[in-house]
Amino acid sequence: MPITPKQIPLASSREYGTHPVVPGYQFASDNAAGICPEAWHELEKANVDFAAGYGDDPWTGRATDLIRDVFEKDCDVFFAFNGTAANALALASLAQSYHSIICHELAHVETDECGAPEFFSNGTKLLPVGGAHGKLLPSSIDSMVTRRRDIHYPKPRVVSITQVTELSTAYSVSEIESIGEVCRQHRLALHMDGARFSNAVAALGVAPAEITWKAGVDVLCFGGTKNGMQAGEAIIFFDHSLSVDFAYRCKQAGQLASKMRFLSAPWVGMLSGGAWLEHAKRANAAAVRLEAGVRAIKEVEILGQRDGNALFVKLKPFVKQQLHAEGWRFYDFIGAGGSRLMCSWNTSDSAIDRFLVDLSKAATADPSGKHSSL
Ligand SMILES: *Cc1c(COP(=O)(O)O)cnc(C)c1O
Repeated sequence: MPITPKQIPLASSREYGTHPVVPGYQFASDNAAGICPEAWHELEKANVDFAAGYGDDPWTGRATDLIRDVFEKDCDVFFAFNGTAANALALASLAQSYHSIICHELAHVETDECGAPEFFSNGTKLLPVGGAHGKLLPSSIDSMVTRRRDIHYPKPRVVSITQVTELSTAYSVSEIESIGEVCRQHRLALHMDGARFSNAVAALGVAPAEITWKAGVDVLCFGGTKNGMQAGEAIIFFDHSLSVDFAYRCKQAGQLASKMRFLSAPWVGMLSGGAWLEHAKRANAAAVRLEAGVRAIKEVEILGQRDGNALFVKLKPFVKQQLHAEGWRFYDFIGAGGSRLMCSWNTSDSAIDRFLVDLSKAATADPSGKHSSL
């Protein structure tokens, strides 16, 4: 049964008594949400007096087994503190410094990782490509590879796709299969940034295997943070030969947790009872409610398509200012234009409804009246 936010006590209330809820953070990002109860309870259970460090503990073993169950594959699993490290190290393991990585121009690895993929790979070049809805097309991958074959061009070696994309769209099974096919033709490895992988599984209603290894994905960075964990991403290699020495890479980059059980235990909580999928469904459903509400406000334009937990809207400056003044928090999205309204596992229906009332009021207000100076 899906957990409704009302049933969930704020984790912070244990320590600090009643903690003020800041409704304004509801739509800023899914990382503004707290830790979900399943992750929290398992963290607490892992807080035994003593357990072995560096992953040699029961929680890390159990989390790894659960990931293998979820993906129906005997994969190699590593836990990192965050998504930037997971992506950068995974990509670095797939390419030499003279190679290149084809990605979408709005990809997090290109726009939001401060050059970490290039840094950890000792300079492997990212080759950003355009594409509607934040998606790479097989044809654009093909042309990036075939347009140059000479020694002066960094040899394409990896394709990186984001699922769900930075624009909250999900690649379908067949779209990933076609990308997997073009990767096979050109001997490219396929990496998937799955910071919101759970939201894609929830949106598509498919088995995780269908949109990963069965479709040609070699490495997945499976996001935990934005799905309700305190921190952490799992780097999943579906091909054993690609993960050789990866443990050393993690250690060298400062990503081998000493008290590993506190990074892995929340995965046990998320995966053992299906909370990872329930929370993603909940976040997606919140975005559906928000979208339906915004659609009813004719002054506000919805941008693009939405499959995941974020809705993109075009707001006039005075509408934005008004909402911000009322305490609502959300960001303008770099590159894509518009404002991003991001829902999380803990976004409540009542917050959505309150936001819609405020949005409607602001959007229908006459700008020549009280907002004329904005
Ligand atoms: C949030 C996010 C990440 C990971 O970011 P960190 O802040 O490093 O954890 C990676 N990819 C995408 C698409 C994201 O949205």
